[in-house]
Amino acid sequence: MKILFLGTGAADFPKERCEGFRRTSSALIDDIFLIDPGPWVIDATIEYGIDVKKIKYVLVTHYHEDHFDQATLSYLTKNGARLIELSPRESITLDGYTILGLPSNHTIPCTHFIFEHEGKRMFYGLDGAWLMIETVDAIWKKGVDLAVFDGTIGFIEGDWRVFEHNSLSMVLEMKKSLKDSIKHYVVSHLAYTLHPAHEIVESEMKKHDVTVAYDGLTIEF
Ligand SMILES: [Zn+2]
Ligand SMILES: [Zn+2]
Repeated sequence: MKILFLGTGAADFPKERCEGFRRTSSALIDDIFLIDPGPWVIDATIEYGIDVKKIKYVLVTHYHEDHFDQATLSYLTKNGARLIELSPRESITLDGYTILGLPSNHTIPCTHFIFEHEGKRMFYGLDGAWLMIETVDAIWKKGVDLAVFDGTIGFIEGDWRVFEHNSLSMVLEMKKSLKDSIKHYVVSHLAYTLHPAHEIVESEMKKHDVTVAYDGLTIEF
């Protein structure tokens, strides 16, 4: 499986490029599944030379404005993609991929996903704070090759958003308990106003074996 991060930012997304810029969080899986048609997705497809006609399915985690933009969805569906709405506890099989929806701990209803294809599994958990026990159970039961966690708050402590998003110490705390049920930990959805420069976050998280996603990062597993 291959994940390309089209954007790795959060709800504080800027309207134009600036210091520490990150697009709104979105990812492309194996060129055919697009997760979250946010307002910066078209810009990313141009920059990374993506053939949008290859995108067959659009999934939406939730309808916060950094994850869903009607104009972006219309652009993708006009080019041939189909919107797949998946709620927690529903699953669907498309082109040999099974996608399971799982509950998330977030302000509004939000779906986390486990993608399964040819023996590989990927968890995509944006947005959300502490994982819900049902979601943890699914990860424990199956084991996951790569997991994408919400890392919105960065290293800040005492922030009110901890009840809907993670700080990086929360991710590390969950990692201690999830152990090797996840092979590769990744954080995304980093609020650019709450994080120091990417290199600083990266070098700190590297000590804990966690990859910090950036716009344009591709990981194959
Ligand atoms: Zn968000
Ligand atoms: Zn959200």
